Amino acid sequence: MMNTACDVAIIGGGPVGASLALALRDSGLAITLLEARSPEGAPVDPRALALSYGSRLVLERIGVWNEIPQVTGIRTIHISQKQALGRAVLEASELNVPELGYVLPYHALHGALQHALEASKATYLTGAAVTQLSSETDGARIAFRHNGVEQTLNARLAVVADGGKLLESSHPPEITDYGQSAVIAHITCSAPRPGTAFERFSAQGPVALLPYNDGYELVWTAAHEKAQEMLHWDEAAFLAQLHQHFGDRVGEFLSVGTRTCFPLRLRRAPEITLAHTVLLGNAAQTLHPVAGQGFNMGLRDAWELAQEILRCKPEALGEAAMLAAYRNLRRLDRNAGIRFTDGLVRLFSNDLPLLSGGRAASLSLLDCLPSAKKFVARRMMFGANG
Ligand SMILES: Cc1cc2nc3c(=O)[nH]c(=O)nc-3n(C[C@H](O)[C@H](O)[C@H](O)COP(=O)(O)OP(=O)(O)OC[C@H]3O[C@@H](n4cnc5c(N)ncnc54)[C@H](O)[C@@H]3O)c2cc1C
Repeated sequence: MMNTACDVAIIGGGPVGASLALALRDSGLAITLLEARSPEGAPVDPRALALSYGSRLVLERIGVWNEIPQVTGIRTIHISQKQALGRAVLEASELNVPELGYVLPYHALHGALQHALEASKATYLTGAAVTQLSSETDGARIAFRHNGVEQTLNARLAVVADGGKLLESSHPPEITDYGQSAVIAHITCSAPRPGTAFERFSAQGPVALLPYNDGYELVWTAAHEKAQEMLHWDEAAFLAQLHQHFGDRVGEFLSVGTRTCFPLRLRRAPEITLAHTVLLGNAAQTLHPVAGQGFNMGLRDAWELAQEILRCKPEALGEAAMLAAYRNLRRLDRNAGIRFTDGLVRLFSNDLPLLSGGRAASLSLLDCLPSAKKFVARRMMFGANG
């Protein structure tokens, strides 16, 4: 058994944990990042991420934005609902930003973060699966297995960015099961509108088309059972159903790539800090992807935690006052992001006639009121603290 120590131990080298390690790379602190997957064995994650303009700014500051290949900009977001009037269009030009957001593959972001980490001073261990986290009086104690050897790491601050598994049984999260899964795939069509993303709501759940390369990344939500069926429809049936569901805005759908299904739920840790410990990203809150907020919020968690760590006196790292300051910093944005996403799913995933009229009116109102549009777009770009 090997026993080592560091200032900050980050559990999970997904996009959020990796971003935190990079935000702290010049801090002079000893940072250790433990990632369960080994690079060779890691499956390619098929999801596409819509990043906000605010996330671009953070990724620029941590030095990875220009290293991400294959990014497509979003200049227009078109929001509508099936079988009802009312729509809203958000334009980057009206909001004085070059783009409202960006679409990129999860694995392209992951690759750029990995390269930057390898070049940084952080100790980065892959194939290092954490099995236990406990708190001691002066810090956190982490047990993990690396290269077949059981090891322990003592850290003044442990950051849990593992997506949510490690603390699931000791600190059960609050879970809202929406009864929905998302089917994702790359699609092409006869009349793509470059730079335009579409979000269309229906009683079955939302469907999003995110512009990417020669077509769109599709995120199509449906009840779990239906989503499983959709995976097995032949290509012609899938494209015809999508056309029926989405309408004519991008012409005929021509092809669909590999389809993958993700179950969707809101998962919210009861506390985002524990003794000498902070929970970040999906470990703190896993959101429905309806408004593409999950990673954007996780990145804001990472950025604000890094700022709090840099601000605090060295002896305060991981202590109660520092953890309380971080909780206060994140409260508004986290609660607003969860409410916004959860509210959208509940408001739009039903076919009650009274609500349908209200939704149409809200979309039309949003479209006509520049101040309301700016408010919504700023929330999506920068979060509630922006
Ligand atoms: C279909 C779909 C579409 C989405 N679209 C968007 C979008 O458009 N925009 C957006 O902002 N977000 C989106 N999201 C959400 C986004 O994918 C997540 O918010 C983001 O991946 C969270 O990153 P993370 O680093 O917190 O967790 P993860 O990506 O889950 O990474 C966790 C990491 O921890 C590692 N790990 C796990 N357990 C351990 C352990 N015991 N020890 C060590 N390491 C461990 C894992 O191997 C992994 O690398 C979407 C999600 C889904 C499902």
